[in-house]
Amino acid sequence: MPIIPSWWNALVHLFYPQLCVACDAAMPSSSRQCFCFSCRSKIEPTTFHESKENDISERLWGRLPIESAAALYYFDKKGPVQLALHHLKYKNQPDIGKRLGRLLGTQLYSSPLFKDINCIVPVPLHPKKERKRGYNQTMAFALGLADALQLPVYGNTLARQQDTVSQTNKHRMERFQNVGQVFILKQTKNIAGKHILLVDDVLTTGATLEFCGNLLLSVPGVKISIATIAVARN
Ligand SMILES: [Zn+2]
Repeated sequence: MPIIPSWWNALVHLFYPQLCVACDAAMPSSSRQCFCFSCRSKIEPTTFHESKENDISERLWGRLPIESAAALYYFDKKGPVQLALHHLKYKNQPDIGKRLGRLLGTQLYSSPLFKDINCIVPVPLHPKKERKRGYNQTMAFALGLADALQLPVYGNTLARQQDTVSQTNKHRMERFQNVGQVFILKQTKNIAGKHILLVDDVLTTGATLEFCGNLLLSVPGVKISIATIAVARN
């Protein structure tokens, strides 16, 4: 294998300073894409932001009344989206969340369904996890969305409570069923009467968004829409 001199890498990065969020391939600085051409051929955008009825609204039907829902991509095991989420969560790369947030934010900006959103609320991370990781990946995604949509992010509206001993000892299935019970509504002064974009990294069963969304809906006049990076296939 030929040895690539470091000055060559520096030169390439001068003209191609962006890296693919999944495979680290260099991309042109002008590119607004987050994934390189090759990774893009292996992932499927959802285009949920174009229609009111979609996979997420169907999944949350009867559980959480929402206005609209959007997700960038379908989540496939071992695919580029899973890899990007892994880098975002475990490789100290919050910037990936911001880039994906800006990408989705640009799509939402041009969608009539998301025109009257007032603010963004991210699903909080467990405080212990956030301390260990140094950031909340969902907050990074929210900041990217906020950048594109020019909206405020309220990071203190919801809080995740510390696990109690009994919670830790609970059977796994029981903990799953109790997923929502670890969240509380912490600050409500900014959100009364607002249309909130509630954001999370991945939607699987929807249990977390269901619980957090219903907490927010307990505040008078609140409406909810949903945005996630990825959605697991049904
Ligand atoms: Zn790639």
